[in-house]
Amino acid sequence: MLEFKEKSQQLSTITQMSAGIAHEIKNPLTAIKGFLQIGAANPELRDNYQEIILDEVNRIEAIVQDFMMLSKPKSSLQLEQVDPEQLVSYVLRLLEPEANEKQILLLFDCETTQGTFETEPKRMNQILINLVKNAIDAVDSGGEVRVSIEMSSEELTLSVRDNGPGLTSQELTKIGEPFFTTKEKGTGLGVMVTKKIVADLNGIISYESQKGAGTTVTVRLPK
Ligand code: ADP
Ligand code: MG
Repeated sequence: MLEFKEKSQQLSTITQMSAGIAHEIKNPLTAIKGFLQIGAANPELRDNYQEIILDEVNRIEAIVQDFMMLSKPKSSLQLEQVDPEQLVSYVLRLLEPEANEKQILLLFDCETTQGTFETEPKRMNQILINLVKNAIDAVDSGGEVRVSIEMSSEELTLSVRDNGPGLTSQELTKIGEPFFTTKEKGTGLGVMVTKKIVADLNGIISYESQKGAGTTVTVRLPK
């Protein structure tokens, strides 16, 4: 009986996920098809639609990439010794243009991080990119995003703090659910992927937030 219940729960999750994925991919596909059809009928308008089409293709690519990450087994982890300070600096350099464009201050605190840490750089980058991007999206122009790392003999603690609008307690319970997004162009997959990667690395992720008081995301990874 129990087994049956678990199976039916599993099925309903699969049904919901499939409906979500299909919907998220169908929307941009419909838009692409529509703009291509208009362009075919009106060649002089084609240039106007290039950017939208590329945006929509990028969106599909991002969704597919996120799902590929979710389906990657833990056994595919490729561990290496990395310098956490270098890794964070690299990601922040990558995201600096985005922060500059919005006139956001991107800060990095790293005090006690001597030595290296064994992890998979690709997955670590993905965690950081997702968290810092969300923080950049959350704050208004002139806001601040602060990344800090600290390493002890047992673990690496990484935190991303922003002074954006924060999350309500209801939003906090929803964050990380597939397709939960409050953004017009969001996919609602970033936090879910981040949670999965942190779990693959045997770590813990927590959100601390209050409406109006910003958000701090903390990731603790064992050594
Ligand atoms: P997306 O970024 O595509 O919306 P995510 O899974 O990355 O999807 O985030 C889900 C939602 O969680 C966001 O739409 C936003 O509402 C909320 N969120 C995530 N990080 C923050 C943050 N730092 N501050 C405020 N809200 C956040
Ligand atoms: Mg996101």
